Amino acid sequence: MAMKYLSVLLVSIFILVSISCDTLDDSGIDPDPLITAEIADSQTYNLVTPVYGMQVSIKNGVDRSDQGVLDILDRRATQFLDCQFAEGSQLGFEQVMLDDGTIVPPLSDLRVFVVPIRYKCDVPGTSVCNGTYFSGVDIVTVAEGGFAGCDVFLPWKHELGHRYGMELDHSNQSDFQSCIGDSSCDIGDIFD
Ligand SMILES: [Zn+2]
Repeated sequence: MAMKYLSVLLVSIFILVSISCDTLDDSGIDPDPLITAEIADSQTYNLVTPVYGMQVSIKNGVDRSDQGVLDILDRRATQFLDCQFAEGSQLGFEQVMLDDGTIVPPLSDLRVFVVPIRYKCDVPGTSVCNGTYFSGVDIVTVAEGGFAGCDVFLPWKHELGHRYGMELDHSNQSDFQSCIGDSSCDIGDIFD
């Protein structure tokens, strides 16, 4: 009975999971091993951001201190919400209903898996990602960076954009671009 329930749960998760992925193909460095929704889901999220209470797991190899990572995640989430929504950063503490009726839970429900560099990913159209939003499990995976000319954790706001309504095929990215872009890095360095 327990196994049967587990199977149903797993199948449900797989059906619910939809994936966005942001690619970076021009680096000569080999990507880290594959990260799937299942792998992200199996991490231990034992850190919590001070402002929004996002649950964070930081993989070995990330340069920045844990506290530094948590602060960046909070700060940029605040920036994104202030920029994207009239109601502003307060929305991060609330359940948000998007125009299409989708309910987005508070940021304290979001898990963030922070990894050092880009990684293999199993999504249509690409095999290497530096950021992914797994909507079925509400997890963002984000790479610290190491991209020439770019700030750290550059895909973070982009993946938040996906959580707050940016389509997986980026068809409505123009509605988000001014709030997910980062002026310190050329857009061509980030998105394929
Ligand atoms: Zn994307």
